[in-house]
Amino acid sequence: MTTVGELSSVIEEIWPADGAQPWDSIGLVVGHPLDSIKHVRLCVDVTPEVILDAHSAGVDFLIAHHPLLLRGITSASEATYKGASLALMIRHGMGLLTAHTNADVVSDGVSDCLAQALALTDVEPITPQPGSSPVRGVGRVGNLVAPSPLGVVARQIAGLIPSTAQGVRVSGDFENRVRRIALCGGAGDSLLAESKVLSADVFITSDLRHHPALEFREWAKLDNGPALIDVSHWASEWVWLSTAAQNLRDRIPAVVFSVSDVRTDPWDFLVVQ
Ligand SMILES: [Zn+2]
Repeated sequence: MTTVGELSSVIEEIWPADGAQPWDSIGLVVGHPLDSIKHVRLCVDVTPEVILDAHSAGVDFLIAHHPLLLRGITSASEATYKGASLALMIRHGMGLLTAHTNADVVSDGVSDCLAQALALTDVEPITPQPGSSPVRGVGRVGNLVAPSPLGVVARQIAGLIPSTAQGVRVSGDFENRVRRIALCGGAGDSLLAESKVLSADVFITSDLRHHPALEFREWAKLDNGPALIDVSHWASEWVWLSTAAQNLRDRIPAVVFSVSDVRTDPWDFLVVQ
């Protein structure tokens, strides 16, 4: 029998809590350390659909990348999304643990998995955490084995992540050859001014808003700076789940680890003009 507490210890080994950003909220959210677990499912977001889909598959514990309770709530009313999700989990005897920025920064973490999917070489964090060994940090930068047109790289990424309404948006010349790639799974606009991003040929991330993207690209046009590729936040992080499940399976073979295929990207369709 494996307990939630034993799972938490393994998670501390592979995604240490001290790697998390100070504003983050990680760890056990629902459940007791002595609860036994048989089937753990990994997901990016907790929603009622994710919970019910997991319950129907016999899942008794969820590991979510995004914290359900990052900001304070004043009610667990089931008329709210968060309250309804908490009630569903508790009613179905399902626990919940969050592995967020602590899982972003490690080897085999969220950005590292994207770098692996693109087969980048000489991969290093965009912002290494001082004193970490092995080195941890936010984002990754590395090289393609051979230079490739920007448009071909965008198509390659489209094939590596699950499909979403937004598709893959690109700012840059389709034919421009790129080799050095900076990337950050999830929202990476805080890295736009980092030197390792500015010296890359393209920066791949999610949730790029009009003004930061415009300013970045207008500067890039003047100074031969990087192109931008914007992908779905959910899709860019979903890629990590299968690696995370395998890392856990290797350490706790008695427990089933599966990945939720419920799409929690909020957008449903795109009207092409
Ligand atoms: Zn995220």
